[in-house]
Amino acid sequence: MKKTAFSQPLLSWFDQHGRKHLPWQQTPNSYQVWVSEIMLQQTQVKTVLAYYTRFMQRFPNIESLASASEDEVLSYWSGLGYYARGRNLRKAAIRVMQEFDGTFPQQLDDVMALPGIGRSTAGAILSLACHQHHAILDGNVKRVLARYFAISGWAGKKAVLDQLWQKAEELTPKKCVANYNQAMMDLGATLCTRRQPECPRCPVQKGCLAHQQGNPQDYPNPKPKKIKPERTTYMLLLQNHQGDILLEKRASTGLWGGLWSLPQFDTLLEHQNWLQSQFGLFIPQPQQWPSFRHTFSHFHLHITPLHVVLNSPNNVVMDADNRVWYNNGQQLGGLAAPISRLLADVFEQTVQEDES
Ligand code: SF4
Repeated sequence: MKKTAFSQPLLSWFDQHGRKHLPWQQTPNSYQVWVSEIMLQQTQVKTVLAYYTRFMQRFPNIESLASASEDEVLSYWSGLGYYARGRNLRKAAIRVMQEFDGTFPQQLDDVMALPGIGRSTAGAILSLACHQHHAILDGNVKRVLARYFAISGWAGKKAVLDQLWQKAEELTPKKCVANYNQAMMDLGATLCTRRQPECPRCPVQKGCLAHQQGNPQDYPNPKPKKIKPERTTYMLLLQNHQGDILLEKRASTGLWGGLWSLPQFDTLLEHQNWLQSQFGLFIPQPQQWPSFRHTFSHFHLHITPLHVVLNSPNNVVMDADNRVWYNNGQQLGGLAAPISRLLADVFEQTVQEDES
């Protein structure tokens, strides 16, 4: 098959229907494309838009990102999830300042060596911003190619992935590579969607094997299902006499790494012992709020909030860099979405109680 048989109709379709008004497409440079590509991993464009605009206003270039604290960067990532992306973005900016004099590297290998950037993201940055000839293979492109060539198997398997990369490399044209790569992403996001591909409107329908077979939804094969384990935890909403809530900073790696969170306990006894040792308090029956479930990529966590109010101003926590009494609206660092919601609930409850 001639590669132009695929790329030409795709590029014509892109001219008419492609997305060209996204903020990072206006005067794209490597930094803007890089930030957008990282935010778009696992996240839809409509969610990313507001985050991207705020992030770029505060960190308009690599230097400003590299010189910011991790806390501040994560505060701009709060609610977007997959926080390692934000931490890695900052680490990579520091590396670019140190190793490349603040200029984003132009070699694929150098870009791939930066934290948080894989082969497809590196290819996207260098093709979209610098018009270099590189193939990409994000989730949308995998779906289009798996269907077009009727490639079976889960794309997480090396043999399947290698096959998809080979097709991606073969089809990527030498000319118009930025438009072509953007067109592939747009096709997957707008027509060749996971559930309801719109084959009648597709520019490459003529050669698509899955369409000819009549079963595009069967490609690509989903990840083999594993039942996610269920875990439980207690989270303590400890409120001082001024209404502030105690937050602790989590270790910088692992779950919610580097974010501010609530003291967390496996059992009620553990929570009682902690209150006793830290505050000399014995609370046999803390106020339990209804449990709710938060799902991580590899398990479900059932969270039971415990609300304890300290009445005495003498109940202070020892000074520590990783602890803070948080008041409503205070600028801090990153907060995971469930923690933000719990804080909003407890502050709202406090206001209602004050007013009644
Ligand atoms: S014809 Fe249908 S299945 Fe094939 S690439 Fe186009 S939208 Fe996807």
